[in-house]
Amino acid sequence: MPNPDIIILGAGAAGLSAGVELAQAGLKVTILEARDRIGGRIFTKHDPVCDAPLELGAEFIHGRPPEIWTLLRKHHIRAREAKGEQWCAQEGELCKCDCFSKVEKILEKLDDRRPDQSFLEFLQRCCLENDPKLQEAKAWARSYVTGFHAADPALISVHSLVKGSRADEKIDGDRPFRMKGGYQTLIEIFRRQLDEADVSIEVNMCAQSVRWDQAEVQVTARDEANEAFTFTAPQVLITLPLGVLQADPDDDGALRFIPELPPAKLQTLDQLAMGKVIRLNLRFRERFWENLRPSHSTKSKTLSRMQFLLSHEDWFPSWWTALPEKWPIITGWAPFHCGERLSGQSESLVVEKGLETLGKLLRIGKRELEDLLQASYTHDWQTDPFSRGAYSYVKVGGDRAQSVLAAPLNNNLFFAGEATDVSGHHGTVHGAITTGKRAAGEILKTRN
Ligand SMILES: Cc1cc2nc3c(=O)[nH]c(=O)nc-3n(C[C@H](O)[C@H](O)[C@H](O)COP(=O)(O)OP(=O)(O)OC[C@H]3O[C@@H](n4cnc5c(N)ncnc54)[C@H](O)[C@@H]3O)c2cc1C
Repeated sequence: MPNPDIIILGAGAAGLSAGVELAQAGLKVTILEARDRIGGRIFTKHDPVCDAPLELGAEFIHGRPPEIWTLLRKHHIRAREAKGEQWCAQEGELCKCDCFSKVEKILEKLDDRRPDQSFLEFLQRCCLENDPKLQEAKAWARSYVTGFHAADPALISVHSLVKGSRADEKIDGDRPFRMKGGYQTLIEIFRRQLDEADVSIEVNMCAQSVRWDQAEVQVTARDEANEAFTFTAPQVLITLPLGVLQADPDDDGALRFIPELPPAKLQTLDQLAMGKVIRLNLRFRERFWENLRPSHSTKSKTLSRMQFLLSHEDWFPSWWTALPEKWPIITGWAPFHCGERLSGQSESLVVEKGLETLGKLLRIGKRELEDLLQASYTHDWQTDPFSRGAYSYVKVGGDRAQSVLAAPLNNNLFFAGEATDVSGHHGTVHGAITTGKRAAGEILKTRN
């Protein structure tokens, strides 16, 4: 078989979107993917009982990013906004709340004209008035940053948070949508486009080294039977997750660069971090919360319209339902320290801690919840050798880290993947797609 023009490492949103662009421009593309499936951190399972998609990775389209909506429109795929009520646990009681507006008031005070600082430093210096409401808003803002960004507040850069908020504003990023069939639908669109363009996708093919100091780049890889293969091409696009690039080259799934990456590139790997999350989808016999009336609310108010359930609980502080779909499914989100503690533990412990927390919040005995539970789904992205974390964030002082990581080397090594996004959309599917397109553009430019 003749060598391809380009080898892409990784078949996540970034690698697949780059593959489509390059193949449609006439290049012969081969994609090497370590897993037995494509999609990477998009990982949709199907719940047979509810006939519902269950996301183990990405779930929401954050706002109206054109990279996703253009595809949805073109392929006539419907997306629905996730709308409903927010409920918060406060002083042991559940009440309807608007935490996101409180958080917004704190985040508005972030300032990127000053030297960069961590979000924790910002919180320690800001809003010192002894106003209980303000202090409560600060606590929710901290939970938002650890939850949404899955980040350590002592590490995450305020500059990057401001950049992210500005980027989100342009696309209504605070409005969450879900596409029909789940995110797998998007992967299927890419797969069809790649098939039509005759792109070869080698799954179960884990890249181990990249030799990039010669005219042809050489990639060595192993399949699931540990058989070694060598692939060569004039150019290689690397879309592996940040966690994989940060790993020791001898670790499972990690990549060895021969010669080593230049010091500037290596330094940027330290200026970025992988956020940690364990998510847990629980499918119950029925939407039992529909009829629950938290003691503090008026008699007529039940949890039937509950979208988010937010708390400062230790194991699973945030929960959400499938609304507007009425599936009896509820998702728990354990970010940062909560995720770290659950990572590497058995699935039964993860489910147990989830039920324990949910029971405490809804005031239902764990036994009762266990009886209602029919199925659970979870995935540990931290111990997964092909992701080594959930999604990336920028550490204090890392203003330029993503663009240095994204920069091509030697006209033969190119980089994409959500961690290389420079537009404030890192850590998202649309951010990953943008980087794939950007890298494809860079490659095509070298050929004109
Ligand atoms: C729990 C969770 C929830 C999320 N929620 C959302 C959300 O609601 N909305 C949103 O927009 N984003 C969300 N994200 C983030 C989103 O999933 C990612 O930003 C995006 O999918 C990353 O795409 P990528 O192509 O950059 O990386 P990946 O999807 O990770 O693709 C990289 C590919 O490289 C492969 N690979 C790794 N090592 C090797 C190797 N040595 N050789 C060959 N292949 C290798 C991997 O298997 C993978 O397929 C979430 C992520 C997680 C984990």
